[in-house]
Amino acid sequence: MSYVDEVLVKVKEKNSHEPEFIQAVTEVLESLRPVIEKEEEKYRRDAILERMTEPDRIISFRVPWVDDKGQAQVNRGFRVQFNNAIGPYKGGLRLHPSVNQSIIKFLGFEQCFKNSLTGLPIGGGKGGSDFDPKGKSDREIMAFCKSFITELYKYIGADEDVPAGDIGVGAREIGYMYGQYKRITGLYEGVLTGKGLSYGGSLARKEATGYGLVYITDEMLRANGKSLEGKTVVVSGSGNVAIYAIEKAIALGAKPVTACDSTGWVYDPDGIDVAVLQDVKEVKRARLTEYVKARPNAEYHEGKGVWSVKCDIALPCATQNELDLEDAKALVANGCFAVCEGANMPTTLEATEYLQKNGVYFLPGKAANAGGVATSALEMSQNSERLSWTFEEVDAKLKNIMVNIFRNLDAAAKAYGKEGDYVAGANIAGFIKVCDAMLAHGI
Ligand code: GLU
Repeated sequence: MSYVDEVLVKVKEKNSHEPEFIQAVTEVLESLRPVIEKEEEKYRRDAILERMTEPDRIISFRVPWVDDKGQAQVNRGFRVQFNNAIGPYKGGLRLHPSVNQSIIKFLGFEQCFKNSLTGLPIGGGKGGSDFDPKGKSDREIMAFCKSFITELYKYIGADEDVPAGDIGVGAREIGYMYGQYKRITGLYEGVLTGKGLSYGGSLARKEATGYGLVYITDEMLRANGKSLEGKTVVVSGSGNVAIYAIEKAIALGAKPVTACDSTGWVYDPDGIDVAVLQDVKEVKRARLTEYVKARPNAEYHEGKGVWSVKCDIALPCATQNELDLEDAKALVANGCFAVCEGANMPTTLEATEYLQKNGVYFLPGKAANAGGVATSALEMSQNSERLSWTFEEVDAKLKNIMVNIFRNLDAAAKAYGKEGDYVAGANIAGFIKVCDAMLAHGI
């Protein structure tokens, strides 16, 4: 049996109750075959794939907090410190009822390759909790965040592990967490990113994932003789990734026509109005039903459905496995020619395969959404030198990083006989750097 197959069997056996983690490992290992086959015995002897698929550490803890009725509540918190071969653990915190060990492990695993692709010195980690922020008061959010950090503070630090936001964690939550870390440790250090601008945050961090997604999409289209100009774009999600992807897509001449949240979606034939979307989601923290009240031509639909809308380009920016085989078929049938992932693993394995087989340019999340974590690393740099860069400086660096990510993954795909397979290219390019560092450090 080949080394890759051997490790896949082991990972599936060992993690049989963790489907998302198995899905992420399967995708990565499958595309590493051409690299591993070149020096199979060396990699096997060093157990490099076993070591890469086994997190350095999983921290799992109780998070008690008191709700507004005076009732104590308990949630589970996690931090998976996956791999620090190339830098301190880095990755977001997700607050969502679906969070469990499998989801945090898959996200932490993906983060290692994504962070490596940015070209910056950051290792991979991820954390979160099954706490549901929906419908919670500001005081309840604060109580939860402070309790979460009261446990996690022992394991994080500016040169050790630097968490950030993810689903359910934005500037407000990072602020409460930062305040608690500072209070307990007495340290004023860049231990979290996505901070507010008044206490060490970086300009353009909020916009970075969405902007970066559009920068790399643009670069990929150019490399294939196409452009964003005049293209209809279908976007899922309505968080900071979706909002700023929509904003930048419009700036580059495209027309995004959809957005969605956990209960429904909107289709705006005139193109999404970013100011209205921001007001509904960022200011009012309301449902998308509010969006259509301000946009009479727009339609609101319950449930899932953005992938049935005719488009040229699809940007899934909501959550994992939101685009399945049926959705992929609908996209291809409607003439969609590019799918670039703003979320982490939003496309199922079968859907990815179908899209690629049908000639759709497909950019995986670990490359396409790396602008967020890359700008987090820029925030870390600014914190270390105790300086703040201008929006233009950060944005220019972000753009450069995204262009380089595309060039590197494209080159890696070509070097291993996988031209045009950007999934393989991203996994290979991400893997090589982490692997080199691990080999250099010895067992
Ligand atoms: N949660 C984001 C991601 O999936 C950002 C992580 C960070 O900035 O550390 O990459």
